[in-house]
Amino acid sequence: MPPLESPPDAFSAPAQNAGLADGHGRRFSYLRMSVTDRCNFRCTYCLPNGFKKQAGLAPELSVEEMVRAVRAFAALGLWKLRLTGGEPTVRQDFTAIARTMADVPGVRRLAMTTNGYRLAERAQDWRDAGLHAINVSIDTLDPASFASVTGHDRLADVVCGVDRALEVGFDAVKVNTVLMSSLDEAEWDRIRAFVADRPVAWRFIELMRTNDNAEWQAGEAQSGDLVRARLACEGWVARPRKAGAGPAVDYAHADFAGTIGLIAPYAHGFCDSCNRLRLSSRGKLHLCLFGEGGLDLRPLLQHDEQLEELIAAIRRAMPDKSAGHRLREGDSGTTPHLASIGG
Ligand code: SAM
Ligand code: SF4
Repeated sequence: MPPLESPPDAFSAPAQNAGLADGHGRRFSYLRMSVTDRCNFRCTYCLPNGFKKQAGLAPELSVEEMVRAVRAFAALGLWKLRLTGGEPTVRQDFTAIARTMADVPGVRRLAMTTNGYRLAERAQDWRDAGLHAINVSIDTLDPASFASVTGHDRLADVVCGVDRALEVGFDAVKVNTVLMSSLDEAEWDRIRAFVADRPVAWRFIELMRTNDNAEWQAGEAQSGDLVRARLACEGWVARPRKAGAGPAVDYAHADFAGTIGLIAPYAHGFCDSCNRLRLSSRGKLHLCLFGEGGLDLRPLLQHDEQLEELIAAIRRAMPDKSAGHRLREGDSGTTPHLASIGG
């Protein structure tokens, strides 16, 4: 496969991106929309006991409600949209959602995040639906450990899915891997072999504390410094971040088609370049992954005629966006786990 010429995030931002700002001088170009909080996996750091339906919750947003929301955010200058969850692909209408969102005026970049369990069979459909970029979660390349982390012995299927995503022409294929204490020499060898001839961006993510995983996280979390030091030692070179890029730093090496990178939410200054907002699967606007309950936009998603009112409500919320999360102080806000809000 051809080498990764430039980081997948290098997609250039539209020149006009001045729409929505918060009170800390940050501008917002990127919406992460959760389409469901359900999931079929049981990742140890996220839903260790599997998804449990909560009684009395409103239904998930309909496609019509999502379209109204995305139209409003696009009118405010957000041009990159990620479909996430829970596991977004457990929604039977996921492909239709993707196709519909790809057509919303102003959406220039459509991405998804998935645990990959259906990727091998559906990659072509999702690409054809208009998705440009895909993030696949693989926390370990050891089959037994994968089964133990996720509750599913499906590593081979997920790896096939990554290869299929490359074949069908997604222009950015990334792998998310949560940085845990199990990262040993053997795992590094497997990761290097994985990116040797695959033009994927492998990204370690520092394990974040949530309200449900607090105690366990304290024993498992590893600092991203370990990754930085290892990559520098092995001759990997950090690529400059481009406009519109996320918080990841990607490292390249002449001997490898792919890159290895790091997302380090515990690093000082991580929130300074925040460019994203989140909409939950039940219509709540979350200004931060680790904020409070969220602003319920659903009442304003019921009719097309509410567009102006919806736009005004989003604008009014922006000054409340905090300068940064308080994870280092052990404060995860009201977030029980990332599946609840769209990781
Ligand atoms: N189910 C999909 C998946 O796993 O890719 C999408 C939703 S999941 C919440 C999105 C990403 O958040 C995954 O890559 C997952 O590994 C990551 N994640 C979940 N909980 C996390 C935590 N506590 N700390 C860091 N990353 C986390
Ligand atoms: Fe499901 Fe993703 Fe959470 Fe794993 S990380 S339990 S796949 S939502």
